[in-house]
Amino acid sequence: MPLRKLAELILSEKDELAGLDAVSMGRPVSTYFDAHYAATHFNYFAEAGYAQGHTSLNTPGFFNLSLRQPFGVVAIIIPWNAPLVFFSKKIAPAVAAGNTVVLKSSEKAPLTSWKVSQWIEKCGFPPGVVNVLSGHGHISGSALSSHMKIRCLSFTGSTRTGRAIQIAAAQSNLKKVIFELGGKSPALIFEDADLEQAARETENSINFNSGQTCMANSRIYVQESVKDAFIEQFRKLAASRQMGDPTKDDINHGPQADERQYQTVRKYIELGMQDSHTKFTADSTVSPKDALMVHPVVFTDKPEDSRIVKEEIFGPVVVINTFKTEDEGISKANDTEFGLYAALYTKDLERALRVGKKLESGMVGVNCTSPTGCWDLPFGGWKGSGSGRESLLESLDEYLEKKSMYIRCAGLSAKL
Ligand code: NAD
Repeated sequence: MPLRKLAELILSEKDELAGLDAVSMGRPVSTYFDAHYAATHFNYFAEAGYAQGHTSLNTPGFFNLSLRQPFGVVAIIIPWNAPLVFFSKKIAPAVAAGNTVVLKSSEKAPLTSWKVSQWIEKCGFPPGVVNVLSGHGHISGSALSSHMKIRCLSFTGSTRTGRAIQIAAAQSNLKKVIFELGGKSPALIFEDADLEQAARETENSINFNSGQTCMANSRIYVQESVKDAFIEQFRKLAASRQMGDPTKDDINHGPQADERQYQTVRKYIELGMQDSHTKFTADSTVSPKDALMVHPVVFTDKPEDSRIVKEEIFGPVVVINTFKTEDEGISKANDTEFGLYAALYTKDLERALRVGKKLESGMVGVNCTSPTGCWDLPFGGWKGSGSGRESLLESLDEYLEKKSMYIRCAGLSAKL
């Protein structure tokens, strides 16, 4: 079975794959879970790729049925921040559903996609079923978005690029698009929360992968009475990050993916420093500029309408603001064009359910934050963070067209 063989190979070569992402985009090998994630997806869809429709006897004189069928060629465009994760979570269900795929990797991190593509033939995939391109967005990506023979396109990346793809899809053949886009995820810390746990987990969320994570809690709202205690714990944790060469086992904070990404993050930090409420963390022996390294940065008490509160930075930069009442916290958390992941920390279960329901977000963590998730519930965003849902249980459906067939059958005249 090709999908299973690919899973086996990915696991057996996980150290090499980790090394390739470390050198191409700076992901520390010490944090590399991606091979395990990819193998789980290929193994699961090796078993779960059965597309089933329904039957219906509810129309007198008819025996009706629905079919779920592949689109044909599915295009896949992925970002650089966890390439093998997106490679697997999209290719496995799309192929299991009976499609062929053309995947374009990111120009910033093409190596793991290229490496795994070298194993496709020896795993036994028929020729042409899995095709991998390396290329830039405005050429290769645009060619896929506007291609008339591609009827479905699955994209993970920024909201800005998602918009360009949506336009290209509309102006070509109105292909179906599945979008996993950017975020500006909030975490609400209520005064009864376990502050040590909340600080540890929210610090990991924003600084994991050097801040280059779609669902990172980049906005933290702390109830006023516990603000100072929370910030102090958060700052200590951020300052203890081990920064440096991502190929070394004891490093958990690598460089930004490339010069452009580094400059973008620096630009936002400079914007954030334009008022007096700025606070910094972390000393390091690493020379930041040479190594494209950005130390974790904490800003506090920033105006809610400032750019660093509103825009996705995609770096290790967090804004910690405060709220007084539950309603104020919810209102600040929801005041964004994004809606990927929201978190809340409280010991009051009724409040957790009440607030969780009001948060405008595709995923909500209660006493946990991103990247915590699960394999089998829908992954995806509200508002500008996406459309479509992915997970072991959801993804297959995204890659199938539905068809209803109405079959006249004289012997079935009475409704059941
Ligand atoms: P990006 O949008 O710049 O690029 C993503 C991919 O799109 C790349 O392969 C790129 O070559 C391609 N692309 C660029 N312009 C294109 C165009 N005009 N037409 C077609 N393709 C084009 O994003 P990025 O910088 O690679 O990744 C970071 C972004 O991805 C962040 O916004 C992050 O939040 C988001 N992201 C979202 C999720 C999620 O699951 N929601 C996961 C990871 C990353």
